[in-house]
Amino acid sequence: MTQVSHWINGEHLTSERTLAVTNPATGEIIRQVADGDAGTVQTAIEAAQQAFPAWRDTPPAKRAQVMYRFKALLERDTERLVQLISEEHGKTLEDAMGELKRGIENVEYACGVPELLKGEYSHNVGPSIDAFSNFQPLGVVAGITPFNFPAMVPLWMYPMAIACGNAFILKPSEKDPTSTLAVAELLEEAGLPKGIMNVVHGGRETVEALLDAPEVKAVSFVGSTPIAESIYSRGAAAGKRVQALGGAKNHAIVLGDADIENAANTLMGAAYGSAGERCMAISVAVCVGDETADRLIESMRPKIAALKIGPGTEKGLDMGALVTAEHRDKVLGYIEQGIREGAELAADGRELVVPGHENGYFVGGCLFDRVTPEMRIYREEIFGPVLCVVRVDSLDEAIALTNAHEYGNGTCLFTRDGEAARRFTDAIEVGMVGVNVPLPVPVASHSFGGWKRSLFGDLHAYGPDAVRFYTRRKAVSQRWPSPFEASHAEFSFPS
Ligand code: NAD
Repeated sequence: MTQVSHWINGEHLTSERTLAVTNPATGEIIRQVADGDAGTVQTAIEAAQQAFPAWRDTPPAKRAQVMYRFKALLERDTERLVQLISEEHGKTLEDAMGELKRGIENVEYACGVPELLKGEYSHNVGPSIDAFSNFQPLGVVAGITPFNFPAMVPLWMYPMAIACGNAFILKPSEKDPTSTLAVAELLEEAGLPKGIMNVVHGGRETVEALLDAPEVKAVSFVGSTPIAESIYSRGAAAGKRVQALGGAKNHAIVLGDADIENAANTLMGAAYGSAGERCMAISVAVCVGDETADRLIESMRPKIAALKIGPGTEKGLDMGALVTAEHRDKVLGYIEQGIREGAELAADGRELVVPGHENGYFVGGCLFDRVTPEMRIYREEIFGPVLCVVRVDSLDEAIALTNAHEYGNGTCLFTRDGEAARRFTDAIEVGMVGVNVPLPVPVASHSFGGWKRSLFGDLHAYGPDAVRFYTRRKAVSQRWPSPFEASHAEFSFPS
């Protein structure tokens, strides 16, 4: 069985310890991935440190050329990469294609790095004094990524980090690492010097070695909230810059005046696309008024029953399998919990069997009605194809409910009322907000990040915030006095 290797300094390195990688549609172990230790991390750090100075001194326009070629290679290899994503993650080919395209957008943004790093200049801030600020790379920086977007989330990080002049170490998810590695390796063909991009596989031990290493200056993390919080504390305690993006419970508020058929259709994709394994998935529909809830549920039930579910690598499907047996069992556990807590299961996907794939980790679409805020299925992130309907009486109540939740990643309002939409976008305490747009994932020229316990740190991912995250500002004041100016000692602050 092949081992998905580390990739350090342009070399493929294996580990004696490995972790199994499964095809979620069949339940079969298809590969082993190397499980790195502190020694592997140290090898990567040394390679990155050695490669950094020459890359830092490479003009941004030349660094951008690597990104232009990288984009072309990603487009050349799209079909192969999409197959790999789908095979290990379980999502459909079309969805894998979407993820890759959204990832490529970030490479395109990184191509603009000469413009993004232009800096700031003020002439004549004092007698013969000019001031300028420029943005310099940090050195060796690291990224730790989740299973649910094995291509896109790493592409949120390293194209900008590298374009800004840093050397990067990526620790992909151990659940679906092959496409992540395949994408990163294309950088070598794109002309990136060895050691600037490195991939180290593994789990907690690998991550902790990165967090504790003083040579690693910044860490970008995306994953679940408990891990994000611990990464943030441990990394910050070690003196690093950290951005740690966590979990979500995204609410869509549906007003009575909304086009319910349109809301139902878009909620189908937002709740059940990628089997709900998206940090921006809508997992709560807050319906204002009983009639709104009844109409929405009536419209969604037949659509849920008609979901085309199967192995993601087959064409024309709506939804694939969940990523692992453990995760499938966790999702099923939440469904049982919801029933015990008294929510009404209006659509039940638990008994779904995909013929020929009886060992796959499939769960059909589930819809809970009459969910209340104390229930665990409301409070916690399920990360599966389960939509909870909460009934409220007013938009203000819906906003207060959303704001009281510990997560604040994404949200959406369905309405035809502009005043209500404006009130909602002003008052909602969530980082990414949609109006009749259920998955308001910002394009690459804006940054991505939630509020509250969906993000630990100050700067969001990709876009303009990434330039700030992966560089440090240097403010220079320089004076070139005229030989005719008299000089004298000054002992007080110039006033
Ligand atoms: P996860 O937290 O289990 O794993 C994320 C990464 O952390 C992986 O690389 C994993 O190997 C590593 N890791 C796991 N346990 C660790 C530990 N104890 N110490 C150190 N590192 C550890 O997340 P996941 O299951 O891979 O991904 C799903 C989660 O990610 C969901 O909660 C989802 O909402 C979240 N997510 C958030 C965003 C966002 O932008 N906010 C985007 C995608 C996914």
